[in-house]
Amino acid sequence: MKILVVNCGSSSLKYQLIDMSNENSLAQGLVERIGIEGSKLTQKVNGEKYIIEQPMASHQDAIKLVLEALVDETHGVIKSMDEISAVGHRVVHGGENYAESVLIDDEVMKALEECVKLAPLHNPPNITGINACKALMPNTPMVAVFDTAFHQTMPDKAFMYALPYELYEKHGIRRYGMHGTSHRYVSQRVAEVVGKPMEELKIITCHLGNGASCAAINKGKSVDTSMGFTPLEGLVMGTRCGDIDPAIVPFIQKAENLTAQEVDTLMNKKSGVFGLSGVSSDFRDIEDAEAKGNDRARLALEVFYYRVKKYIGAYTAAMGGVDVIVFTAGLGENSKECREFVCEGLEYLGVKIDKEKNNFRGEERLITTDDSTVKVYAIPTNEELMIAKDTKVIVDAL
Ligand code: ADP
Repeated sequence: MKILVVNCGSSSLKYQLIDMSNENSLAQGLVERIGIEGSKLTQKVNGEKYIIEQPMASHQDAIKLVLEALVDETHGVIKSMDEISAVGHRVVHGGENYAESVLIDDEVMKALEECVKLAPLHNPPNITGINACKALMPNTPMVAVFDTAFHQTMPDKAFMYALPYELYEKHGIRRYGMHGTSHRYVSQRVAEVVGKPMEELKIITCHLGNGASCAAINKGKSVDTSMGFTPLEGLVMGTRCGDIDPAIVPFIQKAENLTAQEVDTLMNKKSGVFGLSGVSSDFRDIEDAEAKGNDRARLALEVFYYRVKKYIGAYTAAMGGVDVIVFTAGLGENSKECREFVCEGLEYLGVKIDKEKNNFRGEERLITTDDSTVKVYAIPTNEELMIAKDTKVIVDAL
């Protein structure tokens, strides 16, 4: 069975074709600048790039080209579109409707529309992508895999804000959490690596990329996570501020004479390690600047690490202990400094980093000493595979 995984943004589309017989990725691709001048598709097969530059006015044009690239005689990986058994779509927000992935039908499409108010930037392109695929592959089953679904197991004490209760009832204002597919994938993977059933493990997963979040996973269920009503809450991120005193919002609005929308943009796009360092939102640039003595780069990194460390402490308290900590995503997988500094001072919990073992990037490895009672791992995330696995389970049951 071959499954196409689609992750649709407002002007971009990422895809992968995965052969589920061996879980190998046959082709990966990115379509950029959909609906903008300079549209471009880049497909990679066995490391070899195939680039098509041609106007793509809509997501449907983009999907059409993706299918053409996949069946291309020279650069493709399948003979015909019929080889695609199902499509798995990444969908950002499923609200409270979906705690699991689901086969897409009219009712699901309606629910996705209803969730647009919760994720106005993300759900509309996801919906557009699904409609584009449905138009071109009307008989192929499609599955929605939600970023929020894994965190639907959070108890109400973890997901409620102490705001007037009616705001939750009227507008659905509560914590939803994001990156669920990644937290689920790495927690399941680390349980396999450790060789213990999920039911026996208390895991803290740290997804540290441009967007960043931690999750507390007890017996395989997410019991808390750092992102909230939106992806702005929690950790410091590339350009997002994470947790701040909410009273700062009206204060800045007045002091800087900004609209609510402008403050929202400031917190989402101009803050985080970018805002603190003044250097970049990319951690590689900030690490380089810090190494050259840039003090604000040092500050940005320290504020970032400190926040992750605090969440690890909080989630250990929330679960009454921790057995395994996982680092994943761009920074978690690649930065030994990040892993080392976050874990520094956690010896009291039973975390002992082995600096030699921690000296690598982009691999699946244990980074703690043999006598460390808490095991810390770097596990490369694979959201696409998780989406394909869910899709297969649902389609197999049809
Ligand atoms: P997202 O999917 O949220 O865009 P990624 O998980 O791809 O993010 O992570 C991207 C971030 O990872 C980059 O901004 C960069 O800061 C960080 N990163 C990637 N490689 C390295 C590295 N070798 N050292 C430090 N940071 C890295």
